[in-house]
Amino acid sequence: MPTVVVIGAGVTGLTCALLLARRGNVDVTVVAKHMPGDYDIEYTSPWAGANVLPMSVQETSRWESRTWPELQRLAAEVPEAGIHFQKARVFRLAKDAATDFKGPLSDGLFVPNPWYKTLMPDYRELTPDELPKNPAVPLIASGCEFTSVCINTAVYLVWLLGQCAANGVKIKRAVLKHVSEAAGMSHTGRNADIIINASGLLSCRLGGVMDTTVQPARGQTVVVRNEGSQGMMVTSGCEEADDEMCYTMTRAVGGGTILGGTYQLGNWEPNPDPNVAIRIMKRAVELHPDLTGGKGIEALDIIRHGVGLRPSRKGGVRIEKEVIDGNWVVHNYGHAGWGYQGSYGCAERVLELGRQLAWRGRHLSALPSK
Ligand code: FAD
Repeated sequence: MPTVVVIGAGVTGLTCALLLARRGNVDVTVVAKHMPGDYDIEYTSPWAGANVLPMSVQETSRWESRTWPELQRLAAEVPEAGIHFQKARVFRLAKDAATDFKGPLSDGLFVPNPWYKTLMPDYRELTPDELPKNPAVPLIASGCEFTSVCINTAVYLVWLLGQCAANGVKIKRAVLKHVSEAAGMSHTGRNADIIINASGLLSCRLGGVMDTTVQPARGQTVVVRNEGSQGMMVTSGCEEADDEMCYTMTRAVGGGTILGGTYQLGNWEPNPDPNVAIRIMKRAVELHPDLTGGKGIEALDIIRHGVGLRPSRKGGVRIEKEVIDGNWVVHNYGHAGWGYQGSYGCAERVLELGRQLAWRGRHLSALPSK
């Protein structure tokens, strides 16, 4: 059987390991410094909201399009995965519309007539009288609504890990200095035929990879017990800072409501900034007054303040194969703010690349395609 070692137990590595193991006929070992259950600034996945708000600036996104059906299935049929359906409202601020959403936070989510309108169920443009009218909220030019999902990442990551274990994946804690070390870390004792590099932000420090185009996009959040009845909301920006916006989402199975947030490129600061936290909470209750029954931020019941570093990469995600020190490595890192909503699409591509590889005279077409 082919032998695969996956570096990383974030949403990226675990999804790859699960898809491989489910298809059978392959020995999979996951090696990681951090695991579900850990909260560490070097480990992005637990800090995400997370939800599905398609962001690709291309005409269509294979990663997001191929992931949505599986997240939809999990929300509908697998409650223990910690994913539920929620309506999402996307608001385009007049000031951002004026620049065609070309600011630092711009992405395909906010453009009018987006590619994803045929992907996300119940997509529709909001009527002017459905736009928030609170004078404290910046002028909103237009908005749209669709059915999406919100993922309780604390539950989902543990569920993914459990699914991996149930499908025969072996898990090891280890800190690798160099990507090639993974070759000798399979639980089988055999050398790995393929190493999958899903080391996220730390790809900029992992020997043999050292990708200098990877940098953090710092996301600060506040998690509260309050729940609103209006679903998820996001604005294209805000008045106070170019690298901040407002979003709210309520997680499945008691995960609280996430208030965000920031997108600060190149910022490694692990501690929450109290001034930013106040701004996040203020904007959230202004946009979503329902959260506090129309009261101010004093009525928010805070669970914790959080900071996570999105693995941003100039030029976008890296999914490609490469020989490093004689080992075949398939990279899958640099998902910035869409690692969950692209997870299955990207993992599928990793498997495609894996199947194309030849190693030590043995063609890995043995990796099953379905
Ligand atoms: P990580 O989760 O960082 O995992 C990397 C893994 O590699 C870890 O297990 C780590 O220990 C391991 N590793 C790294 N280096 C080594 C080494 N040398 N040796 C051993 N192990 C190593 N995405 C969405 O889709 N929707 C959202 O709504 C969303 N919201 C977000 C909100 C915030 C505030 C943040 C911070 C992120 C958000 N994201 C969202 C983005 C998403 O969280 C990331 O894209 C995703 O978590 C990246 O996952 P990953 O597995 O690639 O990296």
